[in-house]
Amino acid sequence: MLLTISTNHEPATDLGYLLHKHPDRHQTFDLSFGRAHVFYPEADTDRCSACLLLDVDPVGLVRGKGNWKDGLLDQYVNDRPYVASSLMSVAISQVFGSALAGRSRERAELVETPIPLTARIDVLPVRGGEDLLHRVFDPLGYSVSATQHPLDEKFEDWGESPYYSVELEQATTVAQLLQHLYVLIPVFDQRKHYYVGPDEVEKLLAKGESWLADHPERGLITRRYLKKRQSLVRQALARLVEEDVSNADEDQEVDDLAAPEEKQRELSLHEQRLGAVLAAIRASGAKRVVDLGCGEGKLLRELLADHQFTEILGMDVSVRSLEIAHRRLKLDRLPDMQRQRITLMHGALTYRDERLANFDAAAVVEVIEHLDPPRLIAFERVVFEHARPRTVVLTTPNREYNVMWESLPAGKVRHSDHRFEWTREEFQSWANRIAERFNYIVRFLPVGPEEAEVGAPSQMGMFEAE
Ligand code: SAH
Repeated sequence: MLLTISTNHEPATDLGYLLHKHPDRHQTFDLSFGRAHVFYPEADTDRCSACLLLDVDPVGLVRGKGNWKDGLLDQYVNDRPYVASSLMSVAISQVFGSALAGRSRERAELVETPIPLTARIDVLPVRGGEDLLHRVFDPLGYSVSATQHPLDEKFEDWGESPYYSVELEQATTVAQLLQHLYVLIPVFDQRKHYYVGPDEVEKLLAKGESWLADHPERGLITRRYLKKRQSLVRQALARLVEEDVSNADEDQEVDDLAAPEEKQRELSLHEQRLGAVLAAIRASGAKRVVDLGCGEGKLLRELLADHQFTEILGMDVSVRSLEIAHRRLKLDRLPDMQRQRITLMHGALTYRDERLANFDAAAVVEVIEHLDPPRLIAFERVVFEHARPRTVVLTTPNREYNVMWESLPAGKVRHSDHRFEWTREEFQSWANRIAERFNYIVRFLPVGPEEAEVGAPSQMGMFEAE
């Protein structure tokens, strides 16, 4: 099976720097299931093509598997050596690992610049026909052409095979193209996967981070990628959705449940929360502030109004929320001086991100309860270890207070997307643990009207780096 990536970006031979493979050399890599060859059939300044050829050893593929269910012969005589399948994804990640991660020492800028690229796959088994190719690749901006191969050229009436030569074309980055191929090639091939385990979810999310959540076929892609393993599929979809929850319906949901006078209280609660966060950030003396999980930009608006803050960054995983924030803050109409103070950025708090470094203060308002507990661990390191602002102001609901909302059924969380809601003790013990581990000092403040027994509806932790 053969994957050919071509460009006519000038100089086209830059493709060699982007793939970390020299155009003049033929290189061979040993993989657990065979060998991969990389070579360039053409390498001129106006056009350059790199090929990844897999030489699959069908014996190596089954060695040690001890799985005789499919019959002995079937294990050795099959289409695996000839088609692009999950083996191709494995090869992409092992042979083009740096390119897949978007790294290039020599061409750092080009890594992020879309260039005209074509990927040709010979051949892709498409269970689902040409229509499926379009449903999957069109929304990602590719122009797709596909040629279906007959089962056997000598026997016309045997009809068509499920095998296609596929060509995808788009101006994009090499990293993005490889990420799409990495996730999507196995989606077309419904045969046995090279490997489907729990960490497959991580791989899917890592490679699909920026585009899968918004893809209209994300359900199909996830199901097929994970081979319909229900538990994995549910987990992956939940995480994708979690990351695209707009806070548009955040307070709405409690509002719907609440009686009118409670509605009033809930509305002002969010204002009180923002007021408390803003006061804490002001008091820290911060100039450069990042709002992590900024949603539709309510806090950003307050930050923008205060000239103490010279640089403001809003970050969220939901593109939809960012678009709403952009509109509400009227960023297009701000005078230049104001406009330069604020940036909105798409990103996930569960992945280390260098753009978050060097801020004086970070706000994390009503965000952590949207993270699955295992992802919370990633979040902790991303924020407190890598981004490491001097001040972190973080709020989360206080579960004890939920009894005060009569219309909230007992034991229910305030919002269907909340993965957890903590009591004051749970929050404080988590925050103390974080502070100790990452060398911060933390103080706590209730937010909203305090009741003797159950405390206030929201709770805030203020972390200062030691
Ligand atoms: N801070 C805002 C929004 C709170 S709602 C406010 O107080 O108004 C929670 C926000 O967290 C949503 O906008 C959601 O998209 C975002 N979010 C959830 N998971 C995230 C993640 N992993 N990375 C970044 N943002 C995330």
